[in-house]
Amino acid sequence: MSAQTQYNLKSPGVKRLMREACELAEPTDEYFATPLEDNLFEWHFTVRGPPNTEFEDGLYHGRILLPSQYPMQPPNIILLTPNGRFETNKKICLSISGHHPESWQPSWSIRTALLALIAFMPTSAAGTIGSLDYTKEERQVLAKKSKNWECNICGKILNKLSNNSAIKTLTKEESSLLSQIALKTEDETNTSENNDNELRHRTVNSVENRIDTEFVVFSEVQSQKDKLWSLVVWLLVFTITLLIIRRFFFV
Ligand SMILES: [Zn+2]
Repeated sequence: MSAQTQYNLKSPGVKRLMREACELAEPTDEYFATPLEDNLFEWHFTVRGPPNTEFEDGLYHGRILLPSQYPMQPPNIILLTPNGRFETNKKICLSISGHHPESWQPSWSIRTALLALIAFMPTSAAGTIGSLDYTKEERQVLAKKSKNWECNICGKILNKLSNNSAIKTLTKEESSLLSQIALKTEDETNTSENNDNELRHRTVNSVENRIDTEFVVFSEVQSQKDKLWSLVVWLLVFTITLLIIRRFFFV
């Protein structure tokens, strides 16, 4: 990749993206993603619709936009192929995408995001950002059409995935992540709002605790200073009294 030289190779984000590009270099039969030739922070991907759903055999292409703080901040996913589940050309609201940065973890990756996207497709749209509620039949029609879809950068997407169905096994973390996402759809908006509030609440609490602690430390220091001062004052008073007594009785 000629673009390599234009990036700071010491930056953790760049290192991480280059490692992920190597790991994802071989297409699987479920997904394939690769950075644009001139931009390491924009990737294009193709995923296969999950089997036994209305998306079965559909091929869906899209963009992944990586923030400069990746992997500390989550990627944004934008679908380009019409699919009936997600609006095209719009950032998708997954529990691990940019709309929910509080639930993203830096150990997750582009592969995790793609697996989450596939797992998320058959779930109910439930009015979340960028979701569409097409009927099963409409989605099936779009799945068939999707094979002829072309990206104006990558060209035809039909041959982007491998036909070898040796599926990479999921790591423990990936499986637990995917199950979390499945749970999230049931009460998506409320849960995410509650999480937001809880997070804010927790932050406020911890700030308050810190202020309390600082105040206690400050008071302790203050009371020690006070003691020292009163000692000095008493010593002065004592010395002056001694001097006065000396003057009156010993002159
Ligand atoms: Zn493309």
